[in-house]
Amino acid sequence: MKILVINCGSSSLKYQLIDMDNESVLAKGICERIGIEGSNLTHKPTGKDKYVVEAPMKDHQVAIQLVLDALVDETHGVIASTSEIGAVGHRVLHGGIKYSDSIVVNEDVKKVIRECFDLGPLHNPANLTGIEACEAAMPGVPQVAVFDTAFGMAMAEKAYLYAIPYEYYEKYSIRRYGFHGTSHNFVSHEAIKTLGLDPENAKVIVAHLGNGASISASIGGKCIDTSMGLTPLEGLIMGTRSGDVDPTVIQFIANHENKSVDEVLNILNKESGLLGISGVSSDFRDVMSAAAEGNNRAQIANDAFDYRVAKYIGAYVAAMNGVDAIVFTAGVGENDGIVRGEICEYLTYLGIEIDPEANKVRGEEKVISTPDSKVTVLVLPTNEELFIARETLGLVK
Ligand code: ADP
Repeated sequence: MKILVINCGSSSLKYQLIDMDNESVLAKGICERIGIEGSNLTHKPTGKDKYVVEAPMKDHQVAIQLVLDALVDETHGVIASTSEIGAVGHRVLHGGIKYSDSIVVNEDVKKVIRECFDLGPLHNPANLTGIEACEAAMPGVPQVAVFDTAFGMAMAEKAYLYAIPYEYYEKYSIRRYGFHGTSHNFVSHEAIKTLGLDPENAKVIVAHLGNGASISASIGGKCIDTSMGLTPLEGLIMGTRSGDVDPTVIQFIANHENKSVDEVLNILNKESGLLGISGVSSDFRDVMSAAAEGNNRAQIANDAFDYRVAKYIGAYVAAMNGVDAIVFTAGVGENDGIVRGEICEYLTYLGIEIDPEANKVRGEEKVISTPDSKVTVLVLPTNEELFIARETLGLVK
Protein backbone atom coordinates (compact mmCIF):
# COMPACT_ATOMS: atom_id res chain seq x y z
CA MET A 1 0.00 0.00 0.00
CA LYS A 2 1.16 3.56 -0.73
CA ILE A 3 0.70 5.96 2.15
CA LEU A 4 0.86 9.73 2.01
CA VAL A 5 2.29 11.31 5.18
CA ILE A 6 1.31 14.91 5.86
CA ASN A 7 2.79 17.30 8.40
CA CYS A 8 1.03 20.67 8.35
CA GLY A 9 2.41 23.80 9.98
CA SER A 10 0.59 27.11 10.06
CA SER A 11 2.04 28.20 6.70
CA SER A 12 3.72 25.02 5.48
CA LEU A 13 2.87 21.48 4.46
CA LYS A 14 5.52 18.73 4.36
CA TYR A 15 4.73 15.42 2.70
CA GLN A 16 6.18 12.04 1.85
CA LEU A 17 4.66 9.30 -0.28
CA ILE A 18 5.91 5.96 1.05
CA ASP A 19 5.49 2.56 -0.58
CA MET A 20 4.89 0.35 2.45
CA ASP A 21 5.67 -2.85 0.50
CA ASN A 22 9.34 -2.02 1.03
CA GLU A 23 9.09 1.18 3.11
CA SER A 24 10.73 3.20 0.32
CA VAL A 25 10.12 6.92 -0.16
CA LEU A 26 8.66 7.53 -3.63
CA ALA A 27 8.60 11.32 -3.31
CA LYS A 28 8.78 14.00 -0.69
CA GLY A 29 8.43 17.74 -0.59
CA ILE A 30 7.23 20.88 1.05
CA CYS A 31 4.77 23.69 0.35
CA GLU A 32 5.92 26.92 1.92
CA ARG A 33 4.35 30.32 2.48
CA ILE A 34 0.78 28.99 2.34
CA GLY A 35 -1.59 31.92 2.75
CA ILE A 36 1.20 34.44 2.14
CA GLU A 37 2.59 35.95 -1.03
CA GLY A 38 5.30 33.97 -2.82
CA SER A 39 4.05 30.47 -2.00
CA ASN A 40 5.85 27.57 -3.62
CA LEU A 41 6.03 23.80 -3.72
CA THR A 42 9.34 21.93 -3.85
CA HIS A 43 8.75 18.35 -4.97
CA LYS A 44 11.53 15.75 -4.85
CA PRO A 45 10.64 12.52 -6.65
CA THR A 46 13.12 9.75 -5.77
CA GLY A 47 15.55 9.20 -8.65
CA LYS A 48 14.33 12.24 -10.60
CA ASP A 49 15.16 15.94 -10.58
CA LYS A 50 13.69 18.33 -8.04
CA TYR A 51 10.61 20.17 -9.32
CA VAL A 52 9.64 23.62 -8.03
CA VAL A 53 6.16 25.06 -8.59
CA GLU A 54 5.58 28.71 -7.83
CA ALA A 55 1.84 29.18 -7.51
CA PRO A 56 -0.49 31.04 -5.21
CA MET A 57 -1.72 28.87 -2.32
CA LYS A 58 -4.43 30.70 -0.48
CA ASP A 59 -4.94 27.80 1.91
CA HIS A 60 -3.95 24.19 2.68
CA GLN A 61 -6.71 22.92 0.40
CA VAL A 62 -4.97 24.48 -2.61
CA ALA A 63 -1.60 23.21 -1.36
CA ILE A 64 -2.85 19.62 -1.08
CA GLN A 65 -4.23 19.77 -4.61
CA LEU A 66 -0.84 20.98 -5.90
CA VAL A 67 0.89 18.12 -4.04
CA LEU A 68 -1.49 15.57 -5.59
CA ASP A 69 -0.96 17.15 -9.04
CA ALA A 70 2.82 16.87 -8.58
CA LEU A 71 2.54 13.23 -7.48
CA VAL A 72 0.68 12.29 -10.70
CA ASP A 73 2.51 14.74 -13.01
CA GLU A 74 3.57 13.05 -16.26
CA THR A 75 7.20 14.14 -15.97
CA HIS A 76 7.79 14.66 -12.26
CA GLY A 77 5.19 12.33 -10.80
CA VAL A 78 5.65 8.93 -9.19
CA ILE A 79 2.15 7.43 -9.47
CA ALA A 80 -0.34 7.23 -12.32
CA SER A 81 -3.38 8.21 -10.29
CA THR A 82 -4.21 9.42 -6.78
CA SER A 83 -6.36 6.30 -6.42
CA GLU A 84 -3.05 4.51 -5.71
CA ILE A 85 -2.89 6.32 -2.36
CA GLY A 86 -4.34 3.84 0.14
CA ALA A 87 -4.38 6.08 3.20
CA VAL A 88 -3.11 9.37 4.57
CA GLY A 89 -1.24 9.67 7.89
CA HIS A 90 -1.25 13.08 9.56
CA ARG A 91 1.10 14.29 12.23
CA VAL A 92 -1.07 15.98 14.85
CA LEU A 93 0.59 17.90 17.65
CA HIS A 94 -1.83 17.55 20.53
CA GLY A 95 -4.34 14.84 21.37
CA GLY A 96 -4.99 16.08 24.92
CA ILE A 97 -5.70 13.39 27.52
CA LYS A 98 -8.00 11.57 25.12
CA TYR A 99 -5.57 9.85 22.75
CA SER A 100 -2.67 7.66 23.76
CA ASP A 101 -2.55 5.98 20.35
CA SER A 102 -2.95 6.83 16.70
CA ILE A 103 -6.51 6.67 15.41
CA VAL A 104 -8.52 6.68 12.17
CA VAL A 105 -10.06 10.14 11.83
CA ASN A 106 -13.81 10.57 12.25
CA GLU A 107 -15.94 13.48 13.45
CA ASP A 108 -15.17 12.70 17.15
CA VAL A 109 -11.43 12.75 16.49
CA LYS A 110 -11.71 16.09 14.72
CA LYS A 111 -13.70 17.42 17.68
CA VAL A 112 -10.90 16.47 20.09
CA ILE A 113 -8.24 18.01 17.82
CA ARG A 114 -10.36 21.18 17.84
CA GLU A 115 -10.76 21.08 21.63
CA CYS A 116 -6.96 21.01 21.89
CA PHE A 117 -6.46 24.27 19.94
CA ASP A 118 -5.75 25.94 23.28
CA LEU A 119 -2.94 23.50 24.03
CA GLY A 120 -1.39 23.63 20.56
CA PRO A 121 -2.42 27.01 19.18
CA LEU A 122 0.06 27.07 16.29
CA HIS A 123 -0.11 23.46 15.18
CA ASN A 124 -3.51 21.92 15.96
CA PRO A 125 -5.53 24.31 13.74
CA ALA A 126 -3.11 23.67 10.85
CA ASN A 127 -3.23 19.90 11.47
CA LEU A 128 -7.03 19.91 11.33
CA THR A 129 -7.02 22.05 8.18
CA GLY A 130 -4.67 19.50 6.58
CA ILE A 131 -6.98 16.62 7.49
CA GLU A 132 -10.03 18.40 6.12
CA ALA A 133 -8.19 19.39 2.95
CA CYS A 134 -7.21 15.74 2.34
CA GLU A 135 -10.74 14.53 3.06
CA ALA A 136 -12.05 16.97 0.44
CA ALA A 137 -9.37 16.10 -2.13
CA MET A 138 -9.47 12.32 -1.60
CA PRO A 139 -13.00 11.37 -0.53
CA GLY A 140 -13.24 7.89 0.95
CA VAL A 141 -9.49 7.50 1.58
CA PRO A 142 -8.87 6.77 5.30
CA GLN A 143 -7.12 9.54 7.22
CA VAL A 144 -5.15 8.64 10.35
CA ALA A 145 -4.09 11.03 13.11
CA VAL A 146 -0.72 10.28 14.75
CA PHE A 147 -0.33 12.41 17.86
CA ASP A 148 2.96 13.88 19.01
CA THR A 149 1.67 13.65 22.59
CA ALA A 150 0.65 9.96 22.42
CA PHE A 151 4.01 8.55 23.59
CA GLY A 152 3.99 10.67 26.76
CA MET A 153 0.52 9.42 27.72
CA ALA A 154 2.13 6.29 29.18
CA MET A 155 3.73 8.37 31.97
CA ALA A 156 2.47 7.70 35.50
CA GLU A 157 0.78 10.45 37.55
CA LYS A 158 3.94 11.00 39.59
CA ALA A 159 5.74 11.93 36.36
CA TYR A 160 3.05 13.90 34.57
CA LEU A 161 1.39 15.89 37.34
CA TYR A 162 2.65 19.36 38.17
CA ALA A 163 2.69 19.99 41.91
CA ILE A 164 0.03 22.69 41.65
CA PRO A 165 -3.57 22.56 42.98
CA TYR A 166 -5.10 19.35 41.62
CA GLU A 167 -8.23 21.19 40.50
CA TYR A 168 -6.27 22.69 37.57
CA TYR A 169 -5.56 19.22 36.30
CA GLU A 170 -9.21 18.27 36.75
CA LYS A 171 -10.60 21.47 35.22
CA TYR A 172 -8.13 22.10 32.40
CA SER A 173 -6.05 18.92 32.01
CA ILE A 174 -2.94 20.89 32.95
CA ARG A 175 -0.23 18.22 33.10
CA ARG A 176 3.00 17.26 31.40
CA TYR A 177 2.33 15.75 27.96
CA GLY A 178 5.69 15.59 26.21
CA PHE A 179 6.24 16.20 22.50
CA HIS A 180 8.43 14.72 19.72
CA GLY A 181 6.51 11.56 20.65
CA THR A 182 6.69 10.09 17.15
CA SER A 183 10.47 10.43 17.24
CA HIS A 184 10.94 9.04 20.77
CA ASN A 185 8.61 6.15 19.99
CA PHE A 186 10.34 5.29 16.70
CA VAL A 187 13.88 5.66 18.01
CA SER A 188 13.38 3.78 21.29
CA HIS A 189 11.76 0.81 19.50
CA GLU A 190 14.38 0.78 16.72
CA ALA A 191 17.16 0.87 19.33
CA ILE A 192 15.67 -2.13 21.14
CA LYS A 193 15.52 -4.03 17.82
CA THR A 194 18.96 -3.00 16.58
CA LEU A 195 20.72 -3.76 19.85
CA GLY A 196 18.75 -6.96 20.50
CA LEU A 197 17.56 -5.69 23.88
CA ASP A 198 14.73 -7.25 25.91
CA PRO A 199 11.58 -5.82 24.23
CA GLU A 200 9.65 -5.79 27.53
CA ASN A 201 12.26 -4.51 29.97
CA ALA A 202 14.94 -2.57 28.09
CA LYS A 203 15.68 0.78 29.74
CA VAL A 204 16.39 3.32 27.01
CA ILE A 205 17.08 7.05 27.08
CA VAL A 206 16.56 8.90 23.79
CA ALA A 207 18.10 12.37 23.39
CA HIS A 208 16.34 14.09 20.47
CA LEU A 209 18.67 17.05 19.97
CA GLY A 210 17.58 19.28 17.11
CA ASN A 211 16.42 22.84 16.91
CA GLY A 212 13.68 21.66 19.26
CA ALA A 213 15.21 19.30 21.80
CA SER A 214 13.75 16.78 24.23
CA ILE A 215 14.77 13.65 26.03
CA SER A 216 12.81 10.60 27.12
CA ALA A 217 13.18 7.60 29.39
CA SER A 218 11.32 4.45 28.44
CA ILE A 219 11.11 0.86 29.60
CA GLY A 220 10.21 -1.65 26.90
CA GLY A 221 9.35 1.28 24.62
CA LYS A 222 6.80 2.72 27.10
CA CYS A 223 7.45 6.26 28.22
CA ILE A 224 8.44 6.67 31.88
CA ASP A 225 9.29 10.35 31.60
CA THR A 226 10.02 12.96 28.96
CA SER A 227 11.35 16.48 29.24
CA MET A 228 8.74 18.61 27.45
CA GLY A 229 5.65 19.50 29.46
CA LEU A 230 2.28 21.14 28.91
CA THR A 231 3.94 22.74 25.90
CA PRO A 232 7.30 22.15 24.19
CA LEU A 233 8.88 24.94 26.28
CA GLU A 234 9.89 22.78 29.25
CA GLY A 235 13.08 20.77 29.56
CA LEU A 236 16.30 21.06 27.59
CA ILE A 237 17.89 24.23 26.26
CA MET A 238 16.86 24.49 22.60
CA GLY A 239 17.63 26.68 19.59
CA THR A 240 15.38 29.50 20.76
CA ARG A 241 13.51 27.98 23.74
CA SER A 242 14.76 28.40 27.28
CA GLY A 243 13.69 24.99 28.56
CA ASP A 244 13.29 24.85 32.36
CA VAL A 245 13.13 28.20 34.16
CA ASP A 246 11.74 29.29 37.51
CA PRO A 247 8.29 30.73 36.61
CA THR A 248 9.13 33.79 38.70
CA VAL A 249 11.52 34.80 35.90
CA ILE A 250 8.40 35.55 33.83
CA GLN A 251 6.90 37.78 36.50
CA PHE A 252 10.21 39.57 37.04
CA ILE A 253 10.81 40.33 33.35
CA ALA A 254 7.15 41.35 32.87
CA ASN A 255 7.37 43.82 35.78
CA HIS A 256 10.77 45.26 34.96
CA GLU A 257 10.38 45.44 31.16
CA ASN A 258 6.71 46.42 31.21
CA LYS A 259 5.66 43.39 29.20
CA SER A 260 2.65 41.09 29.30
CA VAL A 261 2.89 37.39 30.22
CA ASP A 262 2.27 36.54 26.56
CA GLU A 263 5.14 38.76 25.49
CA VAL A 264 7.54 37.20 27.99
CA LEU A 265 6.48 33.69 26.94
CA ASN A 266 7.19 34.69 23.37
CA ILE A 267 10.69 35.68 24.48
CA LEU A 268 11.16 32.33 26.25
CA ASN A 269 9.98 30.48 23.14
CA LYS A 270 11.61 32.49 20.36
CA GLU A 271 14.50 34.56 21.74
CA SER A 272 16.03 32.33 24.39
CA GLY A 273 17.95 29.05 24.40
CA LEU A 274 21.20 28.95 22.41
CA LEU A 275 20.23 32.22 20.73
CA GLY A 276 19.45 33.93 24.02
CA ILE A 277 22.66 32.97 25.80
CA SER A 278 25.04 33.29 22.85
CA GLY A 279 23.46 36.27 21.10
CA VAL A 280 24.88 34.67 17.94
CA SER A 281 22.36 32.20 16.51
CA SER A 282 19.83 29.50 17.28
CA ASP A 283 21.70 27.15 14.96
CA PHE A 284 24.13 24.81 16.67
CA ARG A 285 26.72 24.98 13.91
CA ASP A 286 26.87 28.78 14.10
CA VAL A 287 27.18 28.70 17.88
CA MET A 288 29.92 26.06 17.74
CA SER A 289 31.95 27.98 15.18
CA ALA A 290 31.58 31.25 17.12
CA ALA A 291 32.78 29.41 20.23
CA ALA A 292 35.75 28.02 18.29
CA GLU A 293 36.64 31.60 17.30
CA GLY A 294 36.76 32.59 20.97
CA ASN A 295 33.22 33.95 21.54
CA ASN A 296 32.75 33.34 25.26
CA ARG A 297 28.96 33.55 25.34
CA ALA A 298 28.75 31.05 22.47
CA GLN A 299 30.97 28.71 24.49
CA ILE A 300 28.74 29.14 27.56
CA ALA A 301 25.63 28.40 25.46
CA ASN A 302 27.26 25.22 24.20
CA ASP A 303 28.38 24.19 27.70
CA ALA A 304 24.95 24.94 29.20
CA PHE A 305 23.27 22.85 26.49
CA ASP A 306 25.51 19.82 27.21
CA TYR A 307 25.16 20.25 30.97
CA ARG A 308 21.35 20.30 30.84
CA VAL A 309 21.25 17.15 28.69
CA ALA A 310 23.65 15.36 31.07
CA LYS A 311 21.57 16.39 34.11
CA TYR A 312 18.43 14.97 32.51
CA ILE A 313 20.21 11.73 31.67
CA GLY A 314 21.26 11.44 35.32
CA ALA A 315 17.69 12.07 36.45
CA TYR A 316 16.30 9.48 34.04
CA VAL A 317 18.83 6.84 35.09
CA ALA A 318 17.52 7.39 38.64
CA ALA A 319 13.87 7.32 37.48
CA MET A 320 14.43 3.91 35.84
CA ASN A 321 17.02 2.66 38.36
CA GLY A 322 19.39 1.96 35.49
CA VAL A 323 19.81 2.30 31.75
CA ASP A 324 20.71 -0.16 28.99
CA ALA A 325 21.14 2.24 26.10
CA ILE A 326 21.43 5.97 25.46
CA VAL A 327 20.49 7.01 21.93
CA PHE A 328 21.30 10.29 20.17
CA THR A 329 19.04 11.47 17.36
CA ALA A 330 17.88 14.57 15.33
CA GLY A 331 20.06 17.25 13.71
CA VAL A 332 22.62 17.73 16.48
CA GLY A 333 22.36 14.23 17.99
CA GLU A 334 22.86 12.51 14.62
CA ASN A 335 25.63 14.75 13.33
CA ASP A 336 27.64 16.36 16.07
CA GLY A 337 30.24 14.04 17.60
CA ILE A 338 31.75 16.86 19.65
CA VAL A 339 28.49 17.54 21.50
CA ARG A 340 27.84 13.80 21.97
CA GLY A 341 31.35 13.37 23.36
CA GLU A 342 31.01 16.36 25.71
CA ILE A 343 27.69 15.06 27.09
CA CYS A 344 29.11 11.57 27.60
CA GLU A 345 32.06 12.96 29.56
CA TYR A 346 29.57 13.66 32.36
CA LEU A 347 28.52 10.00 32.30
CA THR A 348 31.74 8.10 32.99
CA TYR A 349 30.33 7.28 36.46
CA LEU A 350 27.88 5.00 34.65
CA GLY A 351 30.81 3.13 33.14
CA ILE A 352 30.22 4.76 29.74
CA GLU A 353 33.20 4.75 27.39
CA ILE A 354 32.99 6.38 23.97
CA ASP A 355 35.00 5.15 20.98
CA PRO A 356 36.32 8.43 19.46
CA GLU A 357 36.65 6.91 15.99
CA ALA A 358 33.06 5.56 15.97
CA ASN A 359 31.83 8.87 17.40
CA LYS A 360 32.83 10.65 14.17
CA VAL A 361 29.70 9.18 12.54
CA ARG A 362 27.20 11.55 10.90
CA GLY A 363 23.62 10.81 10.03
CA GLU A 364 23.76 7.03 10.21
CA GLU A 365 23.09 4.32 12.71
CA LYS A 366 26.17 3.35 14.72
CA VAL A 367 27.16 2.23 18.20
CA ILE A 368 29.62 4.86 19.45
CA SER A 369 30.50 3.28 22.80
CA THR A 370 33.37 0.78 23.20
CA PRO A 371 32.64 -2.95 23.63
CA ASP A 372 33.62 -2.56 27.33
CA SER A 373 31.22 0.32 27.98
CA LYS A 374 28.68 -0.59 30.70
CA VAL A 375 25.93 1.22 28.76
CA THR A 376 25.58 1.12 24.98
CA VAL A 377 25.55 4.54 23.33
CA LEU A 378 24.00 4.62 19.88
CA VAL A 379 23.44 7.16 17.10
CA LEU A 380 20.16 6.41 15.32
CA PRO A 381 18.57 8.74 12.75
CA THR A 382 14.96 9.48 13.56
CA ASN A 383 12.31 8.90 10.90
CA GLU A 384 9.03 10.40 12.01
CA GLU A 385 7.43 10.03 8.58
CA LEU A 386 8.11 6.30 8.49
CA PHE A 387 6.68 5.96 12.00
CA ILE A 388 3.51 7.81 10.91
CA ALA A 389 3.24 5.62 7.80
CA ARG A 390 3.65 2.42 9.86
CA GLU A 391 1.01 3.56 12.35
CA THR A 392 -1.33 4.41 9.46
CA LEU A 393 -0.80 1.07 7.75
CA GLY A 394 -1.40 -0.76 11.04
CA LEU A 395 -4.79 0.92 11.42
CA VAL A 396 -6.10 0.66 7.88
CA LYS A 397 -4.90 -2.66 6.50
P1 ADP B 1 14.22 20.61 13.81
O1 ADP B 1 13.66 19.40 13.09
O2 ADP B 1 13.87 20.67 15.27
O3 ADP B 1 14.03 21.91 13.09
P2 ADP B 1 16.79 19.39 13.25
O4 ADP B 1 16.61 18.04 13.86
O5 ADP B 1 16.83 19.51 11.77
O6 ADP B 1 15.79 20.44 13.86
O7 ADP B 1 18.17 19.97 13.85
C1 ADP B 1 18.61 21.26 13.55
C2 ADP B 1 19.89 21.50 14.34
O8 ADP B 1 20.85 20.49 13.99
C3 ADP B 1 20.54 22.85 14.07
O9 ADP B 1 20.94 23.45 15.28
C4 ADP B 1 21.77 22.47 13.24
O10 ADP B 1 22.84 23.34 13.47
C5 ADP B 1 22.10 21.11 13.76
N1 ADP B 1 22.87 20.35 12.78
C6 ADP B 1 22.46 19.90 11.59
N2 ADP B 1 23.50 19.30 10.94
C7 ADP B 1 24.57 19.38 11.75
C8 ADP B 1 25.92 18.98 11.66
N3 ADP B 1 26.38 18.35 10.57
N4 ADP B 1 26.74 19.25 12.71
C9 ADP B 1 26.28 19.88 13.78
N5 ADP B 1 25.02 20.29 13.93
C10 ADP B 1 24.17 20.06 12.94
